Amino acid sequence: MAYDRNNIFARILRGEIPAKRIYEDSYALAFHDINPQAKTHALVIPKGAYLSMADFAANASEAEIAGLFRAVGKVATMLGLEDSGYRILANHGPDSHQEVPHLHIHIFGGQKLGRMIQPA
Ligand code: AMP
Repeated sequence: MAYDRNNIFARILRGEIPAKRIYEDSYALAFHDINPQAKTHALVIPKGAYLSMADFAANASEAEIAGLFRAVGKVATMLGLEDSGYRILANHGPDSHQEVPHLHIHIFGGQKLGRMIQPA
């Protein structure tokens, strides 16, 4: 599957669609999820055009990979979640229910999050 440069997160990166932005640097952009699944639910995306974790892990530079994960840690701290705790999650492909074909790391927190995943 080729990267669709008109996916919704690509459009947010280009500033064509508004988002409640939290943090931005040369490698990553973070914003609040439009349909939060926890009291705090943020998304951190790489600035590069990567479909998913598989694409990113295989093709991103080491600086891009470090930049994204440093941004995730920074954003969680900025959101006040470091002491209370948080969960990060990235969906890849159909079984995971990935909806947007641009890699995104979810950050959930601000409440007790329960066990890791719903039973099938
Ligand atoms: P996933 O199922 O992992 O692909 O997650 C996609 C996430 O993107 C969902 O949690 C959506 O609520 C969120 N989302 C979709 N459109 C927007 C948007 N315009 N701004 C912020 N979050 C969005």
